[in-house]
Amino acid sequence: MTDTASSKPLRILVTGGAGFIGSALVRHLLNETPHDVLNLDKLTYAGNLASLRPVENSPRYRFVQGDIGDTGAVSALMAEYRPDVITHLAAESHVDRSIDGPAAFVETNIVGTFSMLQAALAYLRGLKGEAKARFRFHHISTDEVFGTLGDDGFFTEDTPYDPHSPYSASKASSDHLVRAWADTYGLPVLVTNCSNNYGPYHFPEKLIPLMILTALKGGTLPVYGRGANVRDWLYVEDHARALTAVFERGTPGRSYIIGGRAERTNLAVVHALCDTLDRLSPRADGRSYQDQIGFVADRPGHDARYAIDPSRIERELGWRAQESFDTGLERTVAWYLANEDWWRPLVDGGQATRRAGLAG
Ligand code: NAD
Repeated sequence: MTDTASSKPLRILVTGGAGFIGSALVRHLLNETPHDVLNLDKLTYAGNLASLRPVENSPRYRFVQGDIGDTGAVSALMAEYRPDVITHLAAESHVDRSIDGPAAFVETNIVGTFSMLQAALAYLRGLKGEAKARFRFHHISTDEVFGTLGDDGFFTEDTPYDPHSPYSASKASSDHLVRAWADTYGLPVLVTNCSNNYGPYHFPEKLIPLMILTALKGGTLPVYGRGANVRDWLYVEDHARALTAVFERGTPGRSYIIGGRAERTNLAVVHALCDTLDRLSPRADGRSYQDQIGFVADRPGHDARYAIDPSRIERELGWRAQESFDTGLERTVAWYLANEDWWRPLVDGGQATRRAGLAG
């Protein structure tokens, strides 16, 4: 690590900081760095201020409820807060929901990112000297923009874009807009594309929390297709550390892909999860949670395999995933067992565990 911005507290505007990854980033910044955080979040179904309880009283933290699509309000907020860094995570993020209702994905992920870029550019143009030199716009995206891999090979920063779902197409569009604002207007951008995250505070519609909570209530564990799809899993706190390394030390104009070197088929994930639950919270009848596995209709257009080669961020920024899939999964299962007060209201609300995205 060089003696750069990392030793100087930064003012960071985080969009989507009440979501899964955003809240992990905010908790990390307030617990592990000297930086100041302003969290701008609309609080859609996916935003949850309960995920910020551990840090909500920090004097370095402030929350504003607002919409990234409201360029005027966002501009006023930037003028008042004077961020050094904008980390843009606000998005519609669930692939299955994008199949049922793509409009919100176009609105938030594409038009909303356009609005953030316009506000950031106007703000940058008003900065001078060191403040201008320090400013970064960090856009958080997904490996799903690269499409699907065969049995071998990895995504790298040079992989061509080939999105397939409305979600990944909307994220790909936003990535292109961000790069265009760098090339055309000189906005100092950083783009990161990460693999599937998992960990504490994950909304229970996503695979790992859905499986944990369904297993605990004795339901059938719904594996899509034959469970052969491969994802490369990244523990969310490792991701928060990676994002911090990127906006502190990354080179403007450069992109970094982030993964935990933890490829698993979905079926292997569910097996590992059942084994962990068997140890940490055994079934009353002594049988394994694996007995609850069932197979359901596959997602339409389901990409076969995603895998990340994170060599660039490892080599250039000195970041490494600290959790293996086994240690990360153990922490995750233990967290859900200990934090029913966080997930119970989401499950009882009914939305969280509904199957979506069968395309009619
Ligand atoms: P999430 O759905 O948990 O959270 C999204 C947050 O954005 C919510 O708090 C929501 O209230 C907020 N939001 C939505 N629309 C908004 C708007 N118009 N204005 C302000 N706030 C708004 O998502 P996540 O899983 O934390 O993902 C964060 C980012 O990382 C997204 O951009 C996503 O595409 C990307 N990403 C996620 C994953 C993953 O595995 N979860 C993987 C790769 C990339």
